[in-house]
Amino acid sequence: MSVSDKTAVITGAGSKRGIGRATAHTLAAAGWNVAILDLDETSAKDAAHEVAERNGVQAVGVGCDITDETSVQNALAVLDDSMPPVGALVNNAGITSPTPFLEVTGEEWDRLFAVNVRGAFNVTRRIAPGMAERGFGRIVFLSSVSAERGGGVFGGVGYSAAKAAELGFTRALARELGPRGLTVNAVAPGLIDTDITGGALEGERKTQLLAGIPVGRNGNVADVADLITYLCREESGYITGATYDVNGGAHIH
Ligand code: NAD
Repeated sequence: MSVSDKTAVITGAGSKRGIGRATAHTLAAAGWNVAILDLDETSAKDAAHEVAERNGVQAVGVGCDITDETSVQNALAVLDDSMPPVGALVNNAGITSPTPFLEVTGEEWDRLFAVNVRGAFNVTRRIAPGMAERGFGRIVFLSSVSAERGGGVFGGVGYSAAKAAELGFTRALARELGPRGLTVNAVAPGLIDTDITGGALEGERKTQLLAGIPVGRNGNVADVADLITYLCREESGYITGATYDVNGGAHIH
């Protein structure tokens, strides 16, 4: 068994400076073929092209709205026809919002859960059966330090609640699918330098946050990508149901 005859699916890996794209590269460097699902079809294809060119693996990029079951079904059908069987899934696509609880609307709350939780459900529900059938799978969820410490970085209550839901999802799924050869883990990044905040986290607030990080810097995407790739190794089969912090010591518990 080798990862070179398997595909890793990464959602939300279009974003140029995002955690997903960096993860696609590190997984490909470790030998995985890669499938990128992103709302932004052009960036998904661009990322796949970049990954294939740089790492010499098969890569495909597909436009997909993970909140929409039909869109997920259609995107995964493309893989069925063109890629090796799926051995890893990284539930990375996510959105955040800093809206305070006393101002948040039901629509915004639902949207946070639609992408971060229901989206991960839509993709995992379609991919896990094949993994279970083949007796091998690695699933990694992108939660957040916000889930563990109750916000306080950028995201508000809705984001923290959705990211905490992903932890429950991870743990229960690990228990259910362990006997079928799947591991399911979560990573909980702290402040990582990407475009998810749309440039809204700058100035005084950022300086304050950095002051609370023992290693003295915010994280970069490679810090997170390496951890995810480690969890996807075949040799990491005894690690499951775990949450891995990658936050520079900003939250130690
Ligand atoms: P990003 O904004 O750079 O990338 C997110 C990607 O998800 C984008 O490419 C976007 O197009 C895609 N996406 C959004 N909605 C989608 C949908 N409905 N269907 C398909 N794709 C969709 O974000 P990032 O900072 O790289 O974050 C990646 C993950 O890590 C997220 O789940 C985020 O919550 C989590 N995280 C990030 C940080 C951080 O500080 N950056 C910290 C903790 C957790």
